[in-house]
Amino acid sequence: MAGTLEFSPDDRYNAFITTCRQAPFADGPLAGTAVAVKDNISTAGIQTTCGSRILEGYIPPYDAYVVELLRSSGAAIVGKTNMDEFGMGSTTETSAFGPTRNPVDPGRVPGGSSGGSAAAVAAGLVPMALGTDTGGSIRCPAAFCGIVGLKPTYGRVSRYGLIAYANSLEQIGPMARTVEDVSRLMSVIAKYDPRDSTMLDRPYDHRPSAEIKGLQVGVPEEYFGEGVDPRVAETVKNAIGVLEDLGATTVPVSIPGMRYALAAYYVICTSEASSNLARFDGVRYGPAVDTRKSWHEAYQDLRLELFGPEVRRRIMLGTFALSAGYAGRYYAKAQVARRNIQQDFERAFREVDIIAGPTMPTVAFRLGEKTDPLSMYLSDILTVPANLAGIPSISVPCGRVDGLPVGLQLMGRQFEDERVVDAAYAYEQGVRA
Ligand code: GLN
Repeated sequence: MAGTLEFSPDDRYNAFITTCRQAPFADGPLAGTAVAVKDNISTAGIQTTCGSRILEGYIPPYDAYVVELLRSSGAAIVGKTNMDEFGMGSTTETSAFGPTRNPVDPGRVPGGSSGGSAAAVAAGLVPMALGTDTGGSIRCPAAFCGIVGLKPTYGRVSRYGLIAYANSLEQIGPMARTVEDVSRLMSVIAKYDPRDSTMLDRPYDHRPSAEIKGLQVGVPEEYFGEGVDPRVAETVKNAIGVLEDLGATTVPVSIPGMRYALAAYYVICTSEASSNLARFDGVRYGPAVDTRKSWHEAYQDLRLELFGPEVRRRIMLGTFALSAGYAGRYYAKAQVARRNIQQDFERAFREVDIIAGPTMPTVAFRLGEKTDPLSMYLSDILTVPANLAGIPSISVPCGRVDGLPVGLQLMGRQFEDERVVDAAYAYEQGVRA
C-alpha cells in the first residue's frame, strides 16, 4: 500500500513547529500511519529546532535511528512537534515558538516537555507520536492530555540522532491514545543500534496481554504523600483497585531515597545539559546576530540572545555544580543519591512485579500559572525516580478531577517494558469492559 498521505492539520493548539510535505510511504507494520515526531529528534531534510531559536533553520543531514525505523515501517512523518526548549520544562511554555495548549482545556498547559506530541495525539491530528523523557517529559504530557505514554527502559531505544539534553537519563518513547498503539510503535522503534553505546540488544516485539492474575503491585507511600492533590491520589487508588479486581495483589512498598530524588535529578540534568549545550554558538544556525566583538564576547552575546531564560538558568546551575571545588559537593553527592534510589527500586522489585502511583501530583496547570522555577521543578517529583533508576514507566489515563485527566503511572523492572505495557493494557481493557 505505497502512497502519500494528506496532512493539513488545523493546528489550533500550536502542537507543531513544522509540518511536512508528504513523502511517499513504504509497506510495513505502520503503512500509511501518520506519526508526529518531537522536534529534538533529527529528521533528514526537515527542520529540527529543539524548540529553540538557536537551532531555527537547522536542517539535519541525517535521520535519527528511530526515524529511519519509522520510515521503513511505512509510517508517514507528518510534522515536528512543539516542546519546551531543549526539553527543559513541564508545560511546553519555554518553547521559543509559543506555548502548546491542552486540547482538553485550551486554557491549560498540555504538560511537557513533549507537549506538542501529546496535544497532537489528544486532538486527534495523529494517532501516534514520538516523545522523549528525561525526567517525565513523555509521561507528564500524556497524563495531562489524557493519552498513553511509555518511557522505555534506559538502553532499549537508540538515542542516535536525538539532540542530547541529559544523556544518562533520557529515552525516546511512544505516545498514543491506546496502550495497543503505544506497544505497536514501541515494537517499531526498539531495535538494537550499535551507534548508541548505551544500548542493550533487547528488541521489543510484543502484543499486549490483559492477563494479570497473580501480578504483585507495589504501592509506595511516598507517591501518595505531601504535595499530591488528595483527589488525584484517590483517583489513582481507585485505579489500583481495578487492578486488584482483575486479579492483582497489592503490597505496600517504600522508596525512601525519594526524599533526594528531585535534588539529585536537577543536579545531574543541569550538569549534563551545561556540557551538552556548550556546542551551540549560534553561528551557523538561528537568526543572524550582529556582533563585531571578540569571539569570547560574541559567544556570550549570541547565547544570551538565542537561548531562553530557563535554558540559561540550567546552563549556569550545571556549570556551577561541576566547577572545581564544588563537583564533590554537588555532582558526586547526586550520584550517591541516584544509586540509593536504584537500590530502593531493586529491593522493592524483589517483592513486587510492578510499582503503581500517580504520574503527576496534580492535574494540568493553567497557562502561566507556574511562575517560579522551583514550583515547576517540584511537579516532576513522581516521574524523575524512574529516570534516575533507568526503569520502564508508563502513564495510562485513569479518570478525571475537575474534568481534567489523571494518569496512573506503572513502573517495572529494567527490561520488563512488556510487563508494564500488559498491566496498563489490563487496566485499560478492565475499565472499558
Ligand atoms: N520537567 C523535567 C525537566 O525540565 C523533565 C523534562 C524532560 O523529561 N525532558 O528537566
